[in-house]
Amino acid sequence: MLSLADARAKVLETVRRLRGPIISENVPLGESAGRVLAKPIVADRDYPPFDRSTRDGFAVRSSEVTQPGATLEIIGEARAGTAFKGNIGPGQCVEIMTGAAVPSGVDAVIMVEFAKVDGRRVRFDRAVRSGENVVPRGTEARAGAELLPAGTRVGAAEIGVAAQVGSARIEVARRPRLAILSTGDEVVGVADAPGPLEVRNSNGVSIEALARLAGAEPVALGNARDEKNELRRSIERGLEADVLVLSGGVSAGKYDLVEPVLRDLGAEFFFDSVAIRPGKPVVFGVCRGKFIFGLPGNPASTLVTFELFVRPAIELLQGAEAQELQIVAARLAAPVRQKAPLTYFLPALLESRDGEPVVQELPWPSSGDIVALARATGFLVVRPERLEMAAGDWAEYWPRRDAL
Ligand code: AMP
Ligand code: MG
Repeated sequence: MLSLADARAKVLETVRRLRGPIISENVPLGESAGRVLAKPIVADRDYPPFDRSTRDGFAVRSSEVTQPGATLEIIGEARAGTAFKGNIGPGQCVEIMTGAAVPSGVDAVIMVEFAKVDGRRVRFDRAVRSGENVVPRGTEARAGAELLPAGTRVGAAEIGVAAQVGSARIEVARRPRLAILSTGDEVVGVADAPGPLEVRNSNGVSIEALARLAGAEPVALGNARDEKNELRRSIERGLEADVLVLSGGVSAGKYDLVEPVLRDLGAEFFFDSVAIRPGKPVVFGVCRGKFIFGLPGNPASTLVTFELFVRPAIELLQGAEAQELQIVAARLAAPVRQKAPLTYFLPALLESRDGEPVVQELPWPSSGDIVALARATGFLVVRPERLEMAAGDWAEYWPRRDAL
């Protein structure tokens, strides 16, 4: 059985080794959130394109405002979008607005809050340093500079950068197609009425959502019964996508047929259990050149193993780096005691108490209980090296990314 770290490393190494070239497509900027840049975003001109004032105030020669009480003549104004055209002589200044170009001949802006205007004269209550409240041309970026490299995941800030340089459409990696197949004789459709011993296929739609959040295009294949021929037919359809994610049927039960059927189809497995809870029986392999993940069917196991193993694969397939788990430190609200040498992901709430982050484990009757997970803000992570911890100890907290 692999450790969590070794299993993740195995996924990363395998996907990097076997993925094909990144195929790109051109999309409108406004629809690009969550995608990954296939080409860098480059500055089309200097930023800022002129010496820009960051305050409303007066553009002055700093050498003339070296102490409180300096008084200057106001000879005009510089507005955002319009240059001041005159010459500013000794003893003179112009009124200036935030975002306006600082005229030549002056080198600082003194805030309006420190100025007292009397007709055409202005008196300042404090000195100003050269360069104060001025961002010189090109300080943010030079024309031609790479602002965002290929492989960057696009969020609102990245969209702002692309918009600033005039990229109304951008090149992004094609979304990997991710086929989703749930398995189980007891599983019925979400809109179906389950018999007394049946459950609705919650994993199928949860995985669709997870796939979209990670940047993949889900292909829903419904549910296959625990019967070899039916499972085989559905898996073969799934292998038309870039990645196949199965839920259920990977434990050691008599009707857990996912591994045997995949093996018949020629799959190579890299692991079929990882030292984690929930999610221990998770399977990763390759079949006919496609990546396959068999996730345990308990809804919480499905969600955790998707985030741990499938998400990094989707990131790499788009040419992005796989993100590290964004684990942060928080104090334990109550003691923790686990027995088996596993990494545990326990549904938990993160709160702030007296200015410190505190993590509170939620009651969790079984890894089938998705309700506890939906109430959680994230997970308390317990490592095999430290299975017992006291209240107040610093522990690890992993926020739920699916809830973003
Ligand atoms: P399995 O991994 O097939 O042994 O299933 C483990 C548990 O998860 C069982 O209680 C199943 O009924 C449940 N389960 C399996 N597949 C799904 C699904 N698609 N949606 C919701 N629950 C499921
Ligand atoms: Mg099953």
